[in-house]
Amino acid sequence: MIIVMQPEAGEAEIAAVEARIRAAGLDVHVSRGTERTLIGAVGDERKLDPEMFDPLPGVERSMHILKPYKLVAREWHKASTIVDVAGVKIGANAVQVIAGPCSVETQPQMDAAADGVAAAGARLMRGGAFKPRTSPYAFQGKGVDGLCMLKDAAARHGLPIVTELMDVRMLDAFLEHKVDVIQIGTRNMQNFDLLKEVGRVDVPVILKRGMSATISEWLMAAEYIAAGGNHRIMLCERGIRTFETAYRNVLDVTAVAVLKRETHLPVIVDPSHAGGKAWMVPALSCAALAAGADALLIEVHPCPPEAWCDADQALTPGEFAALMDKLDALAHALGRRIDRRAAEVESAALAR
Ligand code: PEP
Ligand code: MN
Repeated sequence: MIIVMQPEAGEAEIAAVEARIRAAGLDVHVSRGTERTLIGAVGDERKLDPEMFDPLPGVERSMHILKPYKLVAREWHKASTIVDVAGVKIGANAVQVIAGPCSVETQPQMDAAADGVAAAGARLMRGGAFKPRTSPYAFQGKGVDGLCMLKDAAARHGLPIVTELMDVRMLDAFLEHKVDVIQIGTRNMQNFDLLKEVGRVDVPVILKRGMSATISEWLMAAEYIAAGGNHRIMLCERGIRTFETAYRNVLDVTAVAVLKRETHLPVIVDPSHAGGKAWMVPALSCAALAAGADALLIEVHPCPPEAWCDADQALTPGEFAALMDKLDALAHALGRRIDRRAAEVESAALAR
């Protein structure tokens, strides 16, 4: 951290800043210029905060030099992290596609969704059993029954499952039902107690970006999970709030490029919640892939007009299969490939 003193700051004021740095266990380096003095704090500056210096007499401003996050930073961990979800690798050259409905509704709906998702070659299935709805009167999710429906439908095709955890009190149920990936939704990105709890378990986590979270805030939220010991974290860009009202959210494609540089964690893009319309999903998926996404999270429903939640943005299984073909071709042009289940694997899974 560097503390910039005001031009008129005297020796006593400089000494007070030095004392505060030493009290925090860091060394001091003072640089006296012709116009002002700069004081450098040498050591682990994450223990310091500008609030410790800015109110002191004679201080003009203070600033961090290091990034506030460490465990998730590529600066400290050069190799890209590959998260292994029951044998499906996210973060490697092959791109993964996670697909399924917004919400778990009924067993037949989930079975049909699983059939469609698996037939198109996706290797992971999503579905929300606990739904964060804007209105308390809207469908809130099937709860634990929904976890069972998702697990049963996906198991018929050997697909690991991704589902959202909203409340720490449900974590044991998630572990009991062997949820393969815990999703922390947009609205909970900075629910620090929830992040600490998922940091303590050995289950991969998808951390969605808060609606108006900066990249730094998002990475600090990931740092909470990593600090607890769980390093199997994936970040998911799902669109941010801006002044634009022509679509649900703005897909921040720039964030994908920036994250690939800033962090070693895999980056997932959710084009469905970004655009909010099914017809936008192919274009946004292609943009995400081109920007370097490691995986896509796409909403697919057997009959979108009848979906209980996010009906307007769900693809039909047919549209999803066509998109997978398109993504295959694009991935090929980019020197990557979509990790798509072969038809033989699918029929073998069904025969079991
Ligand atoms: C979801 O994935 O269904 C969801 C609610 O997403 P988000 O948290 O991105 O709004
Ligand atoms: Mn949804």
